[in-house]
Amino acid sequence: MASKFDVIVIGGGPAGYHAAIRAAQLGLNTACIDKWLTSDNKPAFGGTCLNVGCIPSKALLEASHKYAEARDSFADIGIVVGDVSIDVGVMMKRKAAVVAGLTKGVAGLLKSNGVTTLEGKARLHGARKVEFTPHGGKAETLEAGNIILATGSVPVEIPPCPLVDGMIVDSTGALELDEVPERLGVIGAGIIGLELGSVWSRLGSEVVLLEALHDFLPVADQQIAKESARQFKKQGMDIRLGARVTGSEVRDGKVHVTYSDEEGDKTETFDKLIVSVGRRPYTEELLAADSGINLDERGFIFVDEFCATDVPGVYAVGDVVRGPMLAHKGMEEGIMAAERIAGHAPAVNYECIPSVIYTSPEVSWVGETEEQLKASGEKYKVGTFPMAASGRALASNDTVGMIKVIADEETDRILGVHMIGAHTSEMIAEAVIAMEFGASAEDLGLTMFAHPTLSESLHEAALAVSGHAIHVANRQRKSKSK
Ligand code: FAD
Ligand code: NAD
Repeated sequence: MASKFDVIVIGGGPAGYHAAIRAAQLGLNTACIDKWLTSDNKPAFGGTCLNVGCIPSKALLEASHKYAEARDSFADIGIVVGDVSIDVGVMMKRKAAVVAGLTKGVAGLLKSNGVTTLEGKARLHGARKVEFTPHGGKAETLEAGNIILATGSVPVEIPPCPLVDGMIVDSTGALELDEVPERLGVIGAGIIGLELGSVWSRLGSEVVLLEALHDFLPVADQQIAKESARQFKKQGMDIRLGARVTGSEVRDGKVHVTYSDEEGDKTETFDKLIVSVGRRPYTEELLAADSGINLDERGFIFVDEFCATDVPGVYAVGDVVRGPMLAHKGMEEGIMAAERIAGHAPAVNYECIPSVIYTSPEVSWVGETEEQLKASGEKYKVGTFPMAASGRALASNDTVGMIKVIADEETDRILGVHMIGAHTSEMIAEAVIAMEFGASAEDLGLTMFAHPTLSESLHEAALAVSGHAIHVANRQRKSKSK
């Protein structure tokens, strides 16, 4: 094996494998090192996203959604299915097959693009030297013109709830439960808590989410967050805000949790407990003392807006650097780093990163929330459109939700788009494209949308910004002057 490369990428998750493929496409002799081992000790590329994140969670969300739909609402549209039951074993096997197919696919993509794939641990030294230790092998030193660090993140653990195999689990364990727990506790009502809580709630668990904050989903626009909380409650999820977990104990096959809220100290008993209180950047054993890399005060690798670290020729991308921990954000950073190494000058537009919570209804947004605009004192106008007024939503028997477009009061430039409803994870891309092109609400209003589609609701919400939506009494609103 060669020991000198133009580029070495450490980490083969979405950020790393995008960086490696793009670097190879640009003619750079590239290696990608990843240490991931599956539960049966097989190396796998794709990182958290493919192995224990985006993909397996969406496989379970999709399966449980279809099950709940067949059980709860097929009869509404005249489909009689009798008793619907779930085979958790088959559901998990299919999830594993989807994951295996995709991780092998990524390894294949790396190879077919000419990237040297190296399975094992990497450690960065000074002078762009990398110590590589293959699984079960001896360390060797590699050299590179440039290095891209993409080592990702791991779940945060909290002292009151240490993990207990199969009983108190993190997101990875929550994707592996082999039966539906009767009562499921979830610490943290963030994105993972809501997505994985939804999976098991749809399959029949009684789900209780204990959230430390008093506000629900503070990252989302609060009009949308409130509507989502209402829908989750209707589905039976019990979300308790302002709940500070103080301890947990596994006793007699149950998990006993103590917590306190404004009413005082409380206890709860669950069959399983998921701890989903955030993720932290992962740099364990990555940086040798002479690496020269600096971390910020929260443990992220310190980088500038172009993902350059403090060491010339060393970049860092994805969850291990500042910004939202989202696969697509890491992918774009990986591509940017590779292109900058090749002498191009791309930039990532951090203002236009879409967020999606893949619950039912889906919650999706891009740009600024009304709360952020109020805080910064910007003047804005708002147009909203309820999915219940969409012909396609009615035809699909899926009328929950709304779309909200926020535009600058003077220039009409779109500042944020917030959606709740079926398939908003797909529709939000239309808003991202509009914002990337600096569109005004009027531009969207002047664009023709196919009928009947759910996307027409975005068109109508954009028209509503200036008070001329067609299919609903107009709900135009302006920010109050200070
Ligand atoms: P990772 O995917 O974490 O990959 C890092 C890789 O680096 C790993 O393979 C690791 O083995 C390797 N590595 C680390 N250290 C070393 C070393 N020293 N030597 C060699 N290799 C090393 N995001 C979304 O956008 N959409 C979603 O729907 C979504 N769903 C999620 C669901 C769950 C349950 C979870 C946990 C996360 C989800 N995420 C989602 C977040 C997403 O998975 C991450 O943002 C994304 O994986 C980050 O990519 P990354 O490449 O930066 O890091
Ligand atoms: P999160 O930050 O979304 O939510 C964590 C929640 O836990 C927060 O609401 C926080 O207030 C709460 N919390 C923290 N400490 C607590 C405590 N001691 N007791 C009770 N509540 C507590 O984090 P997550 O849900 O763990 O997800 C981690 C990351 O993974 C997120 O940053 C997210 O971007 C990413 N992710 C994305 C998707 C997606 O894009 N659909 C899906 C899953 C995960």
